[in-house]
Order: sequence, then C-alpha cells, then structure tokens
Amino acid sequence: MISVLPIKAFGDNYIWVIKNDNGDTIFFDPGCADSVIKVIEDQNLNPLAAFITHHHNDHTGGISALKEKYKTIIFGPAHETGHETEMELDVILEENDCIEITQLDISLTTIDTPGHTKGHICFHSEDSLFSGDTLFSGGCGRVFEGTPEQMYESLQKLCHLPDDTLIYCAHEYTLANLAFAQHIEPDNCDIATFITHCESLLNLGKPTLPVTLGQEKKINPFLRCDQKSVKKTAENHAGSPLNSDADVFAVIREMKNNF
Ligand SMILES: [Zn+2]
Repeated sequence: MISVLPIKAFGDNYIWVIKNDNGDTIFFDPGCADSVIKVIEDQNLNPLAAFITHHHNDHTGGISALKEKYKTIIFGPAHETGHETEMELDVILEENDCIEITQLDISLTTIDTPGHTKGHICFHSEDSLFSGDTLFSGGCGRVFEGTPEQMYESLQKLCHLPDDTLIYCAHEYTLANLAFAQHIEPDNCDIATFITHCESLLNLGKPTLPVTLGQEKKINPFLRCDQKSVKKTAENHAGSPLNSDADVFAVIREMKNNF
C-alpha cells in the first residue's frame, strides 16, 4: 500500500513523503535534515529520491545529508539559475518531464510555475499535486523573483488540473490565508465553513492538508480573480477599474503582503 505523510519542520513547513509498505520512500522539499533523518531511522525507510520545487533553504536544507548518508537521488528545477550549489541536483527537470518511480507505482510530471522564484516547479501525479510555495490552501506564495502576472499564469495552469486533485502544499498557512480570504470576500459562506473545518483539524493536531483543487476554487481569492466579489474589493482598494483578472491578482497579492 502507498501512503502520503507529512513531516513537520521549522514550525509551519511540511516535508511530504510518499512510501510503500517496504519503506521505499520519496521526499518533497526536504528542508530540514534532522527531521527527515529522524523519520528515516525511526521507520527504517529507504530514501530513493527527493523532489525539489525551488531553491529556498527551508526546502533544500536537508539535501546534502540525504545524499551523503543514503545516496538519495535529487530531482529539481532547471531554471533556478544561480542556486545550483544549494540544490545539488542529480537530475535537472524541464517542464513536462515525467519521472516513473516503479517501486511506488507512480509517475510525477513537472509543471513550471514561476513567480515565487524564477524557476519554481510543481509535481503532478495522477491525483495529487505537490505545489511547494506556489499554491497554498486559501492563498499563494509571495512573488519574490517573478512578476505578479507570471504568478497569476502559473496558478491558472494549476487550475486546469481536475477538481478532485489533492493539493499538498509546503506550509501550514491555511487559517491565516482564510482570514485574508474572508477580508476579500466577506459574504463567501464557503470560507466561513472551511475555517470551522480547518480549526477542528488543527485542534486534533492534524494538518489542514491535502485539500482538493475544487475546494480551493471556492475559497481561495487568488484562484477567484474572475469573480465579481473579488474584483470589487480589489477595485475599491486600487481606487480605479481593473481591466484584467491578472490586474485583480496583482492588487490582492499586494494587499496580502500588508494584511
Ligand atoms: Zn519559498
């Protein structure tokens, strides 16, 4: 049987793990060596590979240890130019590259999602998306290296996946994101309902993730820039009409930075 589990690190990071009953395992964004090694040793895992979405240290900090201790193969993005040293990639991935992991009976396909960083990628399998710092539940990553327009296009690309796709984000930011979502769309009842649901999960010590893409389309303002309610709030803030959904995105992304 295949299972997907989170390893918690640095307070709000999730390092997602896919493993089978034999302990064959792959990791997504192993940012913290100590947390990853503890789980490998405690559960007697065989770390086959790690998949890296982008160059930030909280996603790459455990790479050296995995390579040195377990000879884990590191797959990651082709276009994080200038950050080759910290990623130590064995296999460089371009958009739509497909990696078969026979031990886990899954294949992962690369989706280029620039914006948070210039070379950020996401990994898609049949029913799952490992979205790194591009898509969060209720929100999206900060635009550090790309343009808001690029980030908007990246999120639109993810929106074309099936609605039942399970989104595995790299951070537990959901409740804070939903507070902002409610600020943008005060009359969206789905947001209020989802806040209650997420609060009960967190009270039980469980992650609010994964969440389906279909659910995100109901509550995540950054996937709802075409909705009148979101556009209205953005235009009120900007003080002028906004001509495109990408412009709405840029305004609410900036609002979130100061929320
Ligand atoms: Zn990041």
